[in-house]
Amino acid sequence: MVDNRVQRWIRPEIRALSAYHVPPAHGLIKLDAMENPYSWPETLQRDWLKTLPAAALNRYPDPQASALKERLRSVMAIPPAMDVILGNGSDELIQIIAMALAGPERVMLAPEPTFVMYRMIAAFTGMRFVGVPLREDFALDQAAMLDAIDRHQPAVIFLAYPNNPTGNVFDRAHVDAIIARSPGLVVIDEAYHAFADASYMHELGRADNVVVMRTLSKMGLAGLRLGLLAGPPAWLSEFEKIRLPYNINVLTQLSADFALQHHALFDAQTAEIRAERASVLGALRGIPGVRAYPSHANFILFRVRAGHANAVFEGLKQRGVLIKNLHRDNSPLADCLRVTIGTPAENRQFITALDATLTA
Ligand SMILES: *Cc1c(COP(=O)(O)O)cnc(C)c1O
Repeated sequence: MVDNRVQRWIRPEIRALSAYHVPPAHGLIKLDAMENPYSWPETLQRDWLKTLPAAALNRYPDPQASALKERLRSVMAIPPAMDVILGNGSDELIQIIAMALAGPERVMLAPEPTFVMYRMIAAFTGMRFVGVPLREDFALDQAAMLDAIDRHQPAVIFLAYPNNPTGNVFDRAHVDAIIARSPGLVVIDEAYHAFADASYMHELGRADNVVVMRTLSKMGLAGLRLGLLAGPPAWLSEFEKIRLPYNINVLTQLSADFALQHHALFDAQTAEIRAERASVLGALRGIPGVRAYPSHANFILFRVRAGHANAVFEGLKQRGVLIKNLHRDNSPLADCLRVTIGTPAENRQFITALDATLTA
């Protein structure tokens, strides 16, 4: 029986997982996945298409993606002494880091709630995951973090900065204390950098155990799957050994390089999203029974009356709006939902649908 074979051979910790669920969004206003809602002006699309014939699809891509890396170095102001490695999305970089550090009893530590892939990738790679609860306002619990570091001696700590799904930026003094106390690597995950004013990029090299991870996904290129890790060569040269040689395909290399030559467009789009974030926050705060949390990302976490999150999620979906339901009984995210900032029209439809759902 195939089931018996699977039972016997698939590792128990893998069988215990459920696959990352992406809900169908057909026909819905998609405000569930932190995508940039804007497409490109037609002239830019045409110029992009003109670059494509240069892609040699019969050849393997440049394994070092040198041209793209140089572009990223300049656009993201990566300190010259730091190395860069690219991933098929930053998800792949998390996986590479974990594969390099995993081993019996090796610990990955992160505050929680946070980005769920850290915990999942720890499971894939056989690392022990330690989650340290954030405080009620989603700030780092400094004493609990330092205590957990002393106790578990983590090989790696992941700090999403700003954090997903809470939207806040952790206090810099807390982060610095964690870096100073950590025996291993600290990964500052700046997936939402474009929507925040805080970064560790320019501080790279100051501490020898810090790397900064970024992605092009949230700023408007989620379809390309491109993430980057910047940090001291001593760490990155080890990670480089694990990276599959052709992980960044020809079309991504070409298209990302093209897009970054026009990064002023993305800067304008992200500025628009930041402005919209303020108006969505204001609108949410005007709705009785809704508690909206401040955000430095392109989404807003909000809490509804106890026991109502599932009904709110379904009511929004019936009205054509898909967001993310984070509610779990007895979790720090009980009664919480997360909405991605869309276009002004999409955001208005979301607020209208939420109003209608709550008064239905
Ligand atoms: C979305 C996200 C990522 C992953 O982004 P990729 O699309 O894989 O580059 C990483 N970290 C955080 C905190 C995220 O929210």
